[in-house]
Amino acid sequence: MIRGTSILDAARELNVRAAIDIPKDAYQKVEQLSRQETNRLSSYVLGKILENYDAATKDRVAMCADTGLPRYYVKIGNDAVIEGGMVQLEKALRQATADTTVSIPLRPNRVHPFTRKDNNNNVGMHAPTVDYSFEPDVDWVDITVTHKGGLFGGDYRMLFPADGIPGLKRFFLDSLAEFLRRGMACQPATIGVGVGGTKDMCVRLAKEAACLRIVGDRNPDPEIAKLEEELAEIGTSAGFGPMGFQGNSAVLDVHIEVAYAHTGGMPVGIQQFCYAQRRKTVRIFPDNSIEYREDPRWFTPYYRRETIE
Ligand code: SF4
Repeated sequence: MIRGTSILDAARELNVRAAIDIPKDAYQKVEQLSRQETNRLSSYVLGKILENYDAATKDRVAMCADTGLPRYYVKIGNDAVIEGGMVQLEKALRQATADTTVSIPLRPNRVHPFTRKDNNNNVGMHAPTVDYSFEPDVDWVDITVTHKGGLFGGDYRMLFPADGIPGLKRFFLDSLAEFLRRGMACQPATIGVGVGGTKDMCVRLAKEAACLRIVGDRNPDPEIAKLEEELAEIGTSAGFGPMGFQGNSAVLDVHIEVAYAHTGGMPVGIQQFCYAQRRKTVRIFPDNSIEYREDPRWFTPYYRRETIE
């Protein structure tokens, strides 16, 4: 049985690792962009971002003063047994958020939207957000935390089916022009595109695509994978560099996820995951052993399943 104390301890450590240490895939991509960037000012900025990553790891401090919003993605094995059940798991995640807000520290960003009341622990009504998915034939629990930054850079548009791929590319480019030229969402960023489903579903999928797939990962559908590369090329060649400067290095990668939609529409959501790519995953096994990793492996074949068995 997975103990509540194991979840609490693991979630605390998970937040520390996420806040401080940039995942290797993002680090290496920023390194690559800094070598390729031809604009001197943008190249300088990328160099400073790399120095900042290194300083955070060396000094064990959060990599950005704005520590974003802690958010959890929990994948539960169908055979997993959790002491105290799901309510205990949620309590542990809320407690770990409050504890690490003090211990790391994280900036207490969560406030009441009207009164601006701050509990000073990043916990409040519907905060932190916890999303769930399930996995057949396994008995572990995976917990991924992201400290998602950036109030800006997210967008939504309802396209018609006839808009098709050209309409999607148009919206993508409009979104880049709107946010990248002003450096909003602190690029270079991973851009997630959610296509289909409903208005809320496509926005959720876009965020998961941006935050829960590593740089370089491709959608298993070859046509969608090709489109990911085309959009990444559009992002690279559109003239945008890091933090709103000119250049060719505003995009770390583009990830697309799709969901079946109403036959009359093609809703599209776009989300950006800034260069502070704070994400870490822990797997907790029934014997309470623990493994940390950088790839969330959120989009499993089961999660993307298409029809009945
Ligand atoms: S968008 Fe990202 S890098 Fe920019 S201030 Fe927010 S958390 Fe920091």
